Amino acid sequence: MSAVLAHAEVRQRMAAAAQRAGRAPDAVTLIAVSKTFDATAILPVLGAGQIDFGENRVQEARGKWPDLRLRFPGLRLHLIGPLQTNKAADAVRLFDSIHTLDRPSLAAALAREFARQGVKRQLFIQVNTGEEAQKAGVSPQEADSFIAACRNEHGLDPSGLMCIPPADEPPETHFRRLADIASRNGLSLLSMGMSGDFETAIACGATHVRVGSSIFGAR
Ligand SMILES: *Cc1c(COP(=O)(O)O)cnc(C)c1O
Repeated sequence: MSAVLAHAEVRQRMAAAAQRAGRAPDAVTLIAVSKTFDATAILPVLGAGQIDFGENRVQEARGKWPDLRLRFPGLRLHLIGPLQTNKAADAVRLFDSIHTLDRPSLAAALAREFARQGVKRQLFIQVNTGEEAQKAGVSPQEADSFIAACRNEHGLDPSGLMCIPPADEPPETHFRRLADIASRNGLSLLSMGMSGDFETAIACGATHVRVGSSIFGAR
């Protein structure tokens, strides 16, 4: 199936999932995850009206997105992969939204870059809801204090939370855990749900789903 048809199908499934959950069809933003795919693969999806795209590496994004932005000035780019502190300047330059804020040193680096570049970016704090050793994110127990530190010590205004549930567990528990933490901290956005579970995520309140292979094909 072409990426354009697959994209339309994902959009339809999202709208149906929102309707089943009693939510407005436009309550959920689709982030088309284009990592590993080049401009040739991305262009038709941009042409189909897709606005939000996700990349997991700063370096890779720098190679392909500046040119695409010239042609589609309205697009929004989301960083969904881990961010090294020494790449914070580049990330703030390239991305509209960063989903992987997960430690004090990165909060400090981002605050410094916002000041230096005179910009602000949408921020999601990544929570390691499954407490997996190999995964980034603050632990659920540390989330409240990290959110408070972002606000009070670093002067940041995070918009929401992000998680990647463990591959071998039902995702609902993790989506609900993330929604709880967001709600008790006054955060309105939830970045959760991928190709395999975005409908479940929408039922649990996702405002941003990150869908790659269901649109662009296997990587
Ligand atoms: C790759 C990736 C996705 C998209 O995954 P698919 O299963 O291809 O939809 C979503 N979120 C993150 C953080 C990713 O790295």
